[in-house]
Amino acid sequence: MLRGAPTENSPDRALRVIVNGMICPFCRVDNDKVIDSRTSMDGSAIRRRRECLACKRRYTTYERVEEMALRVVKKDGNLAPFEREKIRRGLEKACWKRPIGAVEIDRTLTSIENEIYSQFDSEIPSSELGAIVMRHLRKLDQIAYVRFASVYREFKDVREFVDELEPMLDEANEGK
Ligand SMILES: [Zn+2]
Repeated sequence: MLRGAPTENSPDRALRVIVNGMICPFCRVDNDKVIDSRTSMDGSAIRRRRECLACKRRYTTYERVEEMALRVVKKDGNLAPFEREKIRRGLEKACWKRPIGAVEIDRTLTSIENEIYSQFDSEIPSSELGAIVMRHLRKLDQIAYVRFASVYREFKDVREFVDELEPMLDEANEGK
């Protein structure tokens, strides 16, 4: 049960779900009203000033969004933290010498992240992660996509690589 007040086993950064009504830290009665709500200076928490309707004492609660501790499940089953910067480096490498600016890379990175966080809560298989990145890269720049795909997919032979590219080349030709 998460009830706002920190418990022994709640880690510091845990999300403390604040339901309507808090248990008063003084008299333990679950009957309060919110007097004031404001966002903390850095925007990471909402501070609420509450008054217990039973004992009339006042106290403060903070609502904080839990840090998204997404982890990547690697092929060997090991877990690694999801690192936004690592994805950025991958994108930059793929877009090397391509006419793609930092703003576009940022935008792509954000849409990649949005897709990831909308589909995965705590773990994402590295294959899924790679597939999502590839899908977005493909929309951004085809050369970058091919570069990324060739590294990521670890093609065993040229035939396999061509098979992968063919549907994309067909699409490109149809566009002409
Ligand atoms: Zn009270």
